[in-house]
Amino acid sequence: MNSIKLSVVIPFYNEEDNLAKLHQQVVNVLRIMGDKSEIIYVDDGSKDQSLKNLKIAVKKNKFKEIESYLIKLERNLGQTAATAAGIDYARGKVLAFMDADLQNDPKDFPKLLNKLQEGHDAVVGWRKNRTDNLFRKFFSSMANLMIRRGFGVPLHDMGCSIKVVRRKALTNFKLYSEYHRLIPALIYWNGAKVTEIVVNHHPRLFGKSNYGYFRVFKVIIDLITIKFLSSYHTKPSYVFGTLGILAEFAAGLVLIAVAYRKFFQGVFVHRDPLFLIAIFLIIVGLQFILMGVLAELIVRIYFEGLNKPIYAKPTIRSL
Ligand code: UDP
Ligand code: MG
Repeated sequence: MNSIKLSVVIPFYNEEDNLAKLHQQVVNVLRIMGDKSEIIYVDDGSKDQSLKNLKIAVKKNKFKEIESYLIKLERNLGQTAATAAGIDYARGKVLAFMDADLQNDPKDFPKLLNKLQEGHDAVVGWRKNRTDNLFRKFFSSMANLMIRRGFGVPLHDMGCSIKVVRRKALTNFKLYSEYHRLIPALIYWNGAKVTEIVVNHHPRLFGKSNYGYFRVFKVIIDLITIKFLSSYHTKPSYVFGTLGILAEFAAGLVLIAVAYRKFFQGVFVHRDPLFLIAIFLIIVGLQFILMGVLAELIVRIYFEGLNKPIYAKPTIRSL
């Protein structure tokens, strides 16, 4: 029987100067915790000496209660793919995630796990004293504010890599695009209990960050997609139809204004830009409505053609 309690998933890409120390740090914490655990390293197509250095570090630090595994992706597929591979192969009841660049502190794992025991499905780190540059911190806090207010995800630092999640909370969705940053939102929107605690954050000493400032826009775009799919994936025509009806309604109002200007002010339609705006709105509205119909057709092909239920797979027990 599988007795592994905790799987630590660590994706890395070109982290040759960080992995030896990282492995040492993680192993030290896991040994203190004492449970049977595994570390799953995912090499996301590193081109430097990462793999060699990791192998040496693992050889030096072997303990029977801690198993170390390596998943090697054939090329650099990105942190999301690497994280997904780690999730697929991890066997623990609880999965822990962190970066390989020594910015996260594995000493936070016991605290995160204690919080999880209080009855949560996921506990996400909050880098309250984040040690990235000011610009990045500003962008990130703005995005997080938007995510809290606009999308209702109750977290201050959704992009924080260090987190612990119960396996059962990771089953109802797939990771696409750059969703590794959105795992907490995906879990939360699936109905799981998600909370956060403050964690340590260290500056990156070796290697360089793989992302620029534009990641913030990607997060927002991805969130809109997920929210749309999670709330309207069985009824897309409500969204498109509503937009279509609103456009047609606006066109009606503009046409009334056009008629008023024609009959009471003597402005002929060929001289009235409002008339063009009305035509534009009529066409756009029709497009929206037709797009909704097409989206409904696609949804039916998706659910009926692939025989998918329209609800996420629930558990069933006798009462
Ligand atoms: N990473 C990865 N594949 C990539 C880019 C990054 O596996 O294509 C890993 C990287 O090695 C690190 C983690 O993902 O362990 C976070 O990356 P990074 O430190 O560049 O992100 P930041 O801390 O700047 O958000
Ligand atoms: Mg980093």
